[in-house]
Order: sequence, then C-alpha cells, then structure tokens
Amino acid sequence: MQAEIIAVGSELLTSQRLDTNSLYLTDQLNALGVEVVTKCVVGDDRDRLADSIRRAFRSAQIVIITGGLGPTEDDVTRDAVAQALSRKQRFHEEIAGQLEERFQKMGRKMAEVNKRQAFIIEGAEILPNDRGTAPGQWIDEAGASLLLLPGPPHEMKAMFTLQCLPRLESRVPKLAIRTLVMRVAGMPESDLDQLIAPVYKKYENPVTTILAAAGDIQVHLRARCGTEAEALALLAEVAAPIGQLLGDRIYSRNGEPMEAVVGELLRQHRAPVSVAESCTGGLLAERLTSVPGSSDYFEAGFVTYTRRLKAELLGVTTNPLVSKETAEAMAVGARQRTGSTYALSTTGVAGPGQGGETAPVGTVYVAIADESGSRVSHRQFLGDRDRIRQFTTQMALDMLRRRILGL
Ligand code: ATP
Repeated sequence: MQAEIIAVGSELLTSQRLDTNSLYLTDQLNALGVEVVTKCVVGDDRDRLADSIRRAFRSAQIVIITGGLGPTEDDVTRDAVAQALSRKQRFHEEIAGQLEERFQKMGRKMAEVNKRQAFIIEGAEILPNDRGTAPGQWIDEAGASLLLLPGPPHEMKAMFTLQCLPRLESRVPKLAIRTLVMRVAGMPESDLDQLIAPVYKKYENPVTTILAAAGDIQVHLRARCGTEAEALALLAEVAAPIGQLLGDRIYSRNGEPMEAVVGELLRQHRAPVSVAESCTGGLLAERLTSVPGSSDYFEAGFVTYTRRLKAELLGVTTNPLVSKETAEAMAVGARQRTGSTYALSTTGVAGPGQGGETAPVGTVYVAIADESGSRVSHRQFLGDRDRIRQFTTQMALDMLRRRILGL
C-alpha cells in the first residue's frame, strides 16, 4: 500500500518553517508497512491544493493532508478537498457547540469565524481534536482514504496515533519495512558508489540510497517483505557483500554516528581522551561530549588559537602554526597535561581567508598521541568553512577509531 503526504501552509514554503509533520508520518506509515511514494508542500491556495489532492488520489491509496484546518481565510483545506472530490460541506451544530464550550471554558467569547471549523465534508467521519479546535476528518473515496489532520505537530501526532493508526492497522495488508544503515568514513561518495553499485543494482528490494555529508557516507538499505524476519534476512543478504567490499571503512552498521561509536570503544577500553583544537574551535570536543555518558571517557578540551596560548597551555613551540609538527606537539602536549590515554589535535586553515598562514584554505593536520608516540595525517579539503571543520572532526574521530582497533 502506498501513501502520499501533503503539508499545507504558505509558511512552509519560506525558510522560517520546516515541514516536520511529514517526517513523523513517514516513520509511522513505514512502521505499518506503508510506503510513502510522494510528499509535497502546498501554499494556502485552494485551487492548487485541489489539484494536488486529485493527483495524489491517482497514485496513492492513503492521502494525508496536514494543516489548513483552522478558522481563518487562509485555511483552505476543507474547501480544497470538497472541490477536489466534488462533495458538499455540511455545518455541524454539535461541533460548533463544542467549539463554543471550549472558548467558554477559557473565559473567552468565540469569534464568529471559528464556526468555519464546524464544516464537515459530506460523508466524512469526524476525528475529534482534544488538543486544539480544528477537528480532523477521514474520508473514504474510491478505495482510497483521505485523512485531514491539523497542522500543529502536537495536535496532529495525537490525532494520528490515537485515532488513525488503529484504523489503518486493520486495513493495511501486513508488510514489514526494515532499514539497515551502514556508515562509512574516509571515502569519497563516487568511489564508494562505484565499488558497491554492482552489488546493490542486482536488487530492486531492498532499495539502496546513498547519502553523503562531510567525511561521512550513509548507505541505507530498505527492505519491504511479508514479515520482519524476511526483511531482516534480505537486508543481511545484501549487506554481507557490501560489508566485504567496504571493509573497515564501515564504522557503524546500525546508523550510529562516529562520536557514539568512538565513545563506546573508549569506554570498552577504559581509555580516556583529550583534545587540543585550533581550526575546529571546540567542534571536536562538542561532538565527543554530545554523547550521553561521555564524562566516562572525555577528559578535557583545549581550544588554543594563538601562538602564545598554544605555548602556555600545551607547550607548543613549533612553527608554522598550521603544520605537521604543530599538530603533533599539540596532541602530545594535551596528553601530557591531562594524562589521558589518547589525545587528538587539529590545526588547519578553514577559510575563507588565509588567517595569516601561508597554507592554502582547506589544509588540515590532525594528530593523535598515545603511549607509543604520535602520528599525524595531512589532508587538503575542498568546501566552505563549515564543511572543512566538519571533515576535520570526522577525520580525527576516525583516526582514533582506527588506532583503538589497531587498523
Ligand atoms: P490552526 O487551528 O492552529 O490554524 P491548522 O490545522 O490550520 O491549525 P496551520 O494553521 O496550517 O494548522 O498550522 C499551524 C501551525 O502548525 C503552523 O504555524 C506551524 O507552526 C505548524 N505546522 C503546520 N504544518 C506543519 C508541518 N507540516 N510541519 C511542522 N509544523 C507545522
């Protein structure tokens, strides 16, 4: 069974508001075994919305609309649905009474305009809204179901889980959708795709998606089967050869981020870490400490930008500041001062200006120090400041992961 989600609201077409309702609904529908095949955002325009609804009915058996059920002129969902399905709307006295009661309880007189929310599309079932004013509606039409839900996320979630899910569960044929996420570090997206495409292209199910961020590629495999066991077996079948091809470049096989994976290794090895950062300005410490329980293994972070404080706090006397020697001296200095098992350091030019250094923008040195000494890696990254800094932290964490695992 397939679904389409339509998020209504002109504010969702600006950069000020994000459509998060569809993400929640997608998760819920997937868990039921329903695939979301299309989702879209439509502004507060009745004709456009009516067009979208007609189109959605052609491709999906479940159409969910969120938003635009309120009382104001720009709340056009009811009118658009009535137009798309050529159905009339009926004023529902009981709902109008309930709305008035709700306002009375709040000690307010209800504005006349609120009565618009008491219009129900012919043949629709009412979905009461115990968290807000606008009721939802459920309409069955030509073998498909259309759900009208309110826009505010807390109202929409309550209405969906309490009233819609049980009905959907009884109608949707049992299908298990399961996802396996592998995460890979230190590999360009195109190289990864070239390597694993011969495997995943053999399968239409599971569907493979590759998502790339700075220094971090996610390979998502999504299987749709009759049972959970079949879906998991299929995922294992496809993940095995991909796993062999990518080897130890895979740092996570359950979607966990690098900082969580490294954190767990540090905990298991009872090996605390400290960091000394220049170009990443605390981002590395932030990633490590964003993991709950990181106080078990994170000892300290030094953010030293100036030459003077690199010398005073870390004992660094090397030149230039962006160099292999400085990175190593920072890591060794941090380790000596904290007594941590491991210390990581970063120095580089994140740009966009040269920052007084002669190295080109994107030049980065990352060092790791432990009881056996120190080692340093040099990279030349492309991208803006954020991306270079993100790449650098990923590289540092991956160096630590490899060091702990002896790779
Ligand atoms: P109301 O009675 O509050 O007017 P409504 O059903 O008409 O309810 P909207 O007016 O469309 O809903 O949206 C109300 C608020 O809910 C929006 O300002 C926005 O903050 C939030 N909202 C609406 N749609 C979404 C969405 N798809 N994702 C996240 N938030 C949303």
